[in-house]
Amino acid sequence: MPLAFYNTLTKSIEPFIPLEEGKVSMYTCGPTVYDYFHIGNARTFILSDLVRRYLEFRRYNVTFVMNITDVDDKIIERAHREGTDAETVAHRYTEAFFEDAAALGIRPADVHPRATRHIDDIITHVMRLVEAGAAYVADGDVYYSVEAFPAYGKLSGKRLEDLIAGARVERDERKKNPADFALWKCAKPGEPSWDSPWGKGRPGWHIECSVMAMKHLGESFDIHAGGHDLIFPHHENEIAQSEVLTGKPLARYWIHFGFLNVEGEKMSKSLGNFFTAREILREYDAETIRFFTFQTHYRSPLNFSREGVTAAENGLKRLHALYEALGERHEGSGALDIDGFERRFIEAMDADFNAPAAFSVIFDLVRESNRLLNGAEGLRADCAERTRDFLRRTAGEVFGVLGSGEKQSAGQFDAEPFVRLVIEARQRARAEKQWALADFLRDGLRDLGVILEDGRDGTTWKWCDERNR
Ligand code: AMP
Ligand code: ZN
Repeated sequence: MPLAFYNTLTKSIEPFIPLEEGKVSMYTCGPTVYDYFHIGNARTFILSDLVRRYLEFRRYNVTFVMNITDVDDKIIERAHREGTDAETVAHRYTEAFFEDAAALGIRPADVHPRATRHIDDIITHVMRLVEAGAAYVADGDVYYSVEAFPAYGKLSGKRLEDLIAGARVERDERKKNPADFALWKCAKPGEPSWDSPWGKGRPGWHIECSVMAMKHLGESFDIHAGGHDLIFPHHENEIAQSEVLTGKPLARYWIHFGFLNVEGEKMSKSLGNFFTAREILREYDAETIRFFTFQTHYRSPLNFSREGVTAAENGLKRLHALYEALGERHEGSGALDIDGFERRFIEAMDADFNAPAAFSVIFDLVRESNRLLNGAEGLRADCAERTRDFLRRTAGEVFGVLGSGEKQSAGQFDAEPFVRLVIEARQRARAEKQWALADFLRDGLRDLGVILEDGRDGTTWKWCDERNR
């Protein structure tokens, strides 16, 4: 069975067949940089990172693009409130986004295009829409004409007639159809603006994503993802304004992540029921937040509670303890069917990225390994090694919840031989009663985050907690 997942466009679970064999092009809607992002946004970013990581685990070569919306009403509003300009606000929160995303173990995209750096491409696209009769100009604004695209509504399942009826209440006289939306907005005083054939102005949010996605991934690409709230109107509009010109599907698969809720309501800035990722990262480490996120299927809502996060923290400790224990020397006879666990792991993730099911496979393995390790049999050396490798590739590389093990596998410096060398030098110093030198070596390692433990069978080492985080 190949990898299959839910496609919002067809409303069914479909086998994944990329446009080009072995390659995947993927776009996720990124942050609007007017504030620190909250842990609801974080859920979406962590999950799209998971999809990308799992595709890589399945040996696809993934090109991943996540935009930065750095011109928008909310940014302008915030700048006015602070008595500064929109550019300053956008710059500050773009930097904060990169910092917080990295702190959460979210890998940077291959490209993070910014809307303000694609204005010429956006203007060109809007001009083409006007020429094609799919858009019209009204007093320096440009609107998309939804009637130009008969398939409008195909993603969200909404019918144009219903939308028109719904929009009548707030009817804007300049729009030909109440469901039309702005592609280009005429500049108001004090707002960021760019020259265009329609006068000074700035792009609308929807067109930014269409243009950036097509610029970096081509007119038709594999996967477009985002939070559930973006299905309508954002993604519906992206489809309309792209496909009306290209005649090709913008993305072939659309993935939408469920909300993070607080007491049954979507976490959002406007409701005020949010915690920023920054705040939460002061209380819990990133892996705990990630693990908490993965315990609910990505399409289901996830309720945020401190009890839930604390429970996740405890589960993760068991996983880390086993991972560490597997790194020790094993001379037992107990064996595990690692291939069987790997098959079950892949089956779970191939069935619509079922992370909770994948983790139950991982924890079955934790339980079985502990049973052998704590029993008379012990674990065979090759099994311990293979189990450790399986955990490194799954819990570590796919989910990013395995501490230092994962950092090493990301191609980083392997400390083991060097720490061993220093331990050896310290032992020689001690043998020659050079106590000051021996202490200097031990303290030097501690400053680098390495703790030495002298036992009956020699000296072992581990990372201190701070370093593990
Ligand atoms: P924004 O910065 O508001 O444009 O949102 C960035 C991303 O976070 C979008 O993909 C949203 O769909 C997503 N998002 C916003 N609120 C939540 C939430 N409570 N749970 C999950 N995703 C969310
Ligand atoms: Zn978008």
